[in-house]
This record gives sequence, C-alpha cells and structure tokens, in this order.
Amino acid sequence: MVIYAPSPHNEIIRASQQSIKYFGHDLNWWGDNPFFRHGSLLINFFHQGQMDFRQSMKVGPEITVVGDSGGFEILSRRARGKPINIDPLSCLRWQEANCDIGMTLDLSPVNLQPVEGGKSVAASPEPISHEEFEKRLDETCKNNQVFQDNRQSPKLKIYNIVHSGMGKVESIDIWYNRVKDFKFEGWSVAPKPPGDPLKVAIDCMFMYSRGIRSSLHVLGISGLKVLPVLVRLEQLIKPISTDSFSFAVNAIVRKFMTPYGPDLYFRPSEKKFTHLPCMCPVCSEVRSIDDYYKTDVVGYGIIGLHNLWCYLDYLQYLETLIEDKESWGKFVNQHNNLFMAMKFIDEVVDRGWEEAVSKLGLMQQTLGEW
Ligand SMILES: [Zn+2]
Repeated sequence: MVIYAPSPHNEIIRASQQSIKYFGHDLNWWGDNPFFRHGSLLINFFHQGQMDFRQSMKVGPEITVVGDSGGFEILSRRARGKPINIDPLSCLRWQEANCDIGMTLDLSPVNLQPVEGGKSVAASPEPISHEEFEKRLDETCKNNQVFQDNRQSPKLKIYNIVHSGMGKVESIDIWYNRVKDFKFEGWSVAPKPPGDPLKVAIDCMFMYSRGIRSSLHVLGISGLKVLPVLVRLEQLIKPISTDSFSFAVNAIVRKFMTPYGPDLYFRPSEKKFTHLPCMCPVCSEVRSIDDYYKTDVVGYGIIGLHNLWCYLDYLQYLETLIEDKESWGKFVNQHNNLFMAMKFIDEVVDRGWEEAVSKLGLMQQTLGEW
C-alpha cells in the first residue's frame, strides 16, 4: 500500500488535544475510538513545533508520524518581506521527539510571490534565477550538514529532499548531485505543480534512474489525479509515501466530496440539503444533517474526516485495480494526463530517464508551459 499521511487541519488538532468527541467518537483517525483507523499523519515543525506535540495529540507509537521541516514557511515569509529563521537543530530535535520520518530543512526553488497585499503567497510559473537556485541549494546543504552531524535518535529516519522546482526539468539533476552524499535513510521529492501526474512521474522516475528503489516520499500531492501514479510507482519503489492536505482544504471551504458527481457544500448561510448524504463510517454515525452545517470543531471535523475517507477509499480501489492489467489499462486510457505519466514511467524503465525526457520533448520546456 502507498503510505498516505494526511495532514490534519486545525479543528482535528484541537479536538484531539482537548479530547472533544462526537457521541463518543474521536474526531481524528488515531484515537481510542475513531470512526475509522488510519496508520499515519504528517505534521509540520513550523505550525506544530511544540516539543510534546505528538503526546498532546495522543498519537500512539503504532502510528507513523511524518515531520515536515518548515522550509516552505521560510520562503513564504521572505516573499512577504517578513523573514524568519528556522533553526535546523531545533527542527531536528523536534523531529526526534515527535516523528518516525523527518524531512530535511530544505529551501525549495519555487518562485513565491506575494498576493492580496502581501497577506499570502502564490507560486509563480516563472522560474527563479540560477543564482537564487544555487543560493537555496547552498542553504539546504548547510542545513543537511547540521542534521547529519547532530543526530541523537536512531529511531528517526531522515529523508533527503531533492527539488526540481519550476525551472527546467533537468535542474533536479543539479540538486541531486549536491545532496546525494549526505547519509540519510530515505529520499523525498516535491513535484511542482503537485497536481500534475506527469510531473510527479518525472521527479520520482529521476530518483528511480539514480538507483533509488525504497523509502521515497512525495511531498504534498494534491487532488485525486496523482494517486494512480503513486500506485504504479509503488511497483518500482517501495515503500513509497505521500502526504496531503487536500481533504482538509475541501473541509475548510465546507466541500463534502463525493465520488459520483458534483460535490455538496454545507454552508450555514444556504442550507440546501435535508438528507444524510453518505454511508461511510463517519457519515453513518452522524445523528443529524444539521451537524454538517456546524461551524465548530464538530462540523469541520466530520466533513474533513468524510473527505479523508473518500481519498482512502479511492486509494484502496486503485491498489486493487492495478492487479489486473486490462482493467488498469482501461482506467488509465480514460485520462490523457494519466496515460502520459504511465507511458513516461515505462519509457524510463526501458530506456532510462534522460532518453525518456528527451523523447517527451521536455528538456527545453519550463514547467509553466505544460
Ligand atoms: Zn461520508
């Protein structure tokens, strides 16, 4: 199985820390009595950096906790003119106290630009300059050195992040060559845009072409389009893991996902529905339709957990579907971008990454043009 580590939203965190329940059920996927159980989650040093965070959330030792480092926040603050420093040593100590897998403190080559008067940031399709790319790589290597030299816990597995960014496809090779000699237990890639199946295939298959066959994490994939790529990649690289905040983002906008057609929105200002819409392990325990409209921990919690169930259910379906070549082929052929990604994976296995990339005519294109 692909390890799918969901990143909990604030309401799930609050409910877990304060033991807020829904008729006896935990509003998470790891407590004593959740609606359903799931074996992993992702937390972030920048947002959840208290030393006893795992304990405060009551996450047991059987749950795999993936710890992101907060490198994105450094860049986000810089882009808004509010620089912060995240100390790599503090990050490492926090990961050792809370996580099973920890990401290195990377400075990604993504080009973040301020929007809404500097309140938030968005990724620009324009690549950063070569000088800036090198500067971020230097900073990342310095942080890697701190991680490598100061480890205290043999339990924590550290994953070395490799970036391609928004620039030329081959820039992943430059990044990899600079970080490849650090001694860590696994690898991580951060495909951009994260919802593009072909880009995910390109970054992961680069790692495959460099001999990586195990312990690969694909950071922050979004949407349902990319999960089939990971299910295919798992046949080549195992374990492969990912994390996602997509289920939670949908909950925050009150979107109740369905596999059938238009999603439902439970907005208190426009109460549209009177039927309980689903029979998943979460929804079958919901007592009243009004609970979906609640704007408290419960309302955001149950919609989020229902959404998470949809992703996990879909992943389970894919893991079964791929066992039969014909059924899998039919599924892949329905989606052009998925078909391209699968074709690329096969090309790399047969001919190597460089040839597959050049065959796709990607070498001269920036990702913004895809
Ligand atoms: Zn449901």
